[in-house]
Amino acid sequence: MKEELLLLISLQECDSQLVGLSAKKIKLPEKIRKMEDDFKIYTENIALNKRKYDELKAKRAEGEAHIKKLSDGMIKTRERLLEVKNNKEYQAMLKEIETAEKARGDIESQIIAIMDEMDKLSVLVKKDDETLQQALIEHEKEKKIMEDDLNAVDADTVTWTEKRIGLQKSIPANLLAQYERVKKRNNGVGVIPVWKAVCGGCHMNIPPQLYNELQRSDDLLSCPNCNRIMYFKNQEKSE
Ligand SMILES: [Zn+2]
Repeated sequence: MKEELLLLISLQECDSQLVGLSAKKIKLPEKIRKMEDDFKIYTENIALNKRKYDELKAKRAEGEAHIKKLSDGMIKTRERLLEVKNNKEYQAMLKEIETAEKARGDIESQIIAIMDEMDKLSVLVKKDDETLQQALIEHEKEKKIMEDDLNAVDADTVTWTEKRIGLQKSIPANLLAQYERVKKRNNGVGVIPVWKAVCGGCHMNIPPQLYNELQRSDDLLSCPNCNRIMYFKNQEKSE
């Protein structure tokens, strides 16, 4: 293959790499941010059982405080009972104690039910905790890969830019201008392989005569449809 064409192919490789790298520079931070957000939602969801457990714990403490208040009240009422003179008052106090005892019994049953639920939840909370720890390890691992990838972008950009500058110097100005012109009109691709008479850029058929010429001659030929500079490449042969 003609030397100039080989240089153009290398130049195209540099340009394609640079396009990919600048896309990465924009997309990777977005991807990392999205991953962080998703993980935050996941963490919040997985904490639902724990939150429920804490709510029950608070409710239990509340119930216990209520029981203490009722019990203290009953002690005082019983003390007062000893000093009561008339029967009506005595009956009223007995009724008061009875009501308080009933209330205390109700709260005690509620607390037992709460503790039952807490027992069940604590099993789930423990499991959630383990799941979360595992997920966190995975999350950090994935994030690190993306961050390393992002950190490599700048260095890779420098490498490919330097390579491009070197190549550019060896390519005749008019050919370079043609490449840039065609590239600009064709989504950043100015040089394209052709195989089985199909343009690798626009996928149109190359006329048989031109296809023959492409395989034989050293002239720089362009695709009649997209104008990209063509080169013949046997896609079945590994390079
Ligand atoms: Zn084409």
